Amino acid sequence: MTVLYRGIGELVTNDPSQGDGSALGIIDDGAIVVDDDRIVWVGERLHAPDADSCADLGGSSVIPGFVDSHAHLVFAGERSAEFAARMTGAPYAAGGIATTVAATRAADDSTLAAGVERLVNEFLRGGVTTFECKSGYGLTGHHTAETTFLGAHVIPPEFREDRDGYVDLVAGPMLDACAPLARWIDVFCDKGAFDVDETRAILGAGVAAGLTPRLHAGQLGPGGGIQLAVELRAASVDHCTYASDTDIEALAAAADTTVATLLPGAEFSTRAKWPDGKRFIDAGVTVALATDCNPGSSYTTSMAFCIAVAVRDMNFSPAQALWSATAGGAAALRRDDIGALAVGRRADLVRLDAPSYLHLAYRPGVPLVGDVVLGGRRSTRVGAN
Ligand SMILES: [Zn+2]
Repeated sequence: MTVLYRGIGELVTNDPSQGDGSALGIIDDGAIVVDDDRIVWVGERLHAPDADSCADLGGSSVIPGFVDSHAHLVFAGERSAEFAARMTGAPYAAGGIATTVAATRAADDSTLAAGVERLVNEFLRGGVTTFECKSGYGLTGHHTAETTFLGAHVIPPEFREDRDGYVDLVAGPMLDACAPLARWIDVFCDKGAFDVDETRAILGAGVAAGLTPRLHAGQLGPGGGIQLAVELRAASVDHCTYASDTDIEALAAAADTTVATLLPGAEFSTRAKWPDGKRFIDAGVTVALATDCNPGSSYTTSMAFCIAVAVRDMNFSPAQALWSATAGGAAALRRDDIGALAVGRRADLVRLDAPSYLHLAYRPGVPLVGDVVLGGRRSTRVGAN
């Protein structure tokens, strides 16, 4: 059963061999043919083949579904009071996570599952068709193939005097329990979190258990985390706010293996300094944008918001921001079946209520995601509004 989508005023393919030949591969008056969950044809409407059925999109812009490669969805409670305090002058420190750990440990599984379900629905409504989900805060996620074991986010209070004991626990029994459920392993390697040696020990154990590393690093201060990510051929190193010139050189040399994922929501919500996206992109680093959705330091599921902030405050061009939120996210998850609208890829696409993707940054805060097609189907999980 094939479906022809036509009436696409501006079709962003992320395929440079298409349309205007830019990285976004933009086709004017484009069309797509989908067979079941896959794309079987992409091009100009004039040349579109026949299909079993046809949907006219009325001249809208169509983009690949957003790929959010960094999210923490499994938690209980919320921290709006802490946010309000921070916005009126209190500093952000890594320890605030302990509040969420305590609330999450106290919550039952059905409460946590309902919370994840709510956020997944928000993702879909906002055009996110693939998302990563980190464990930690006390549990592992089951809603995505992109599950990350993050046992080393913060040292829990009972291990404050025994850091080595906690590292052994994460790299031992906790890893053994979680590795069968996960694809990735992540460590928060930063000031106030885990140091380079602790991170190396945990990620090394994860690799031995068949997981692929990704890191949180360079959010709160400079350090060796970014270099370690490159050395370990991590799929992604995330935050990178305090990346040095040497870090950027290393990331550029590793552009085919390690993505730098910038998280505008975290800087926004902690009133921290913005990383300069242009500095990474001009050096040749592969850059992704992600939400870092979590209740402490970035409680947003909106990739459109991240794009707007990246353009306004992080020196991304609108085109670079959209690429990083789609193809960049796919690279950070080492996925070649998503992140672009091309033959053979999953039919994950978003129709914007706008004539151009430029409106994502030009009209900040406006819900421009019209329809979401997930694996060839109009998303059914989207709520009433
Ligand atoms: Zn994070």
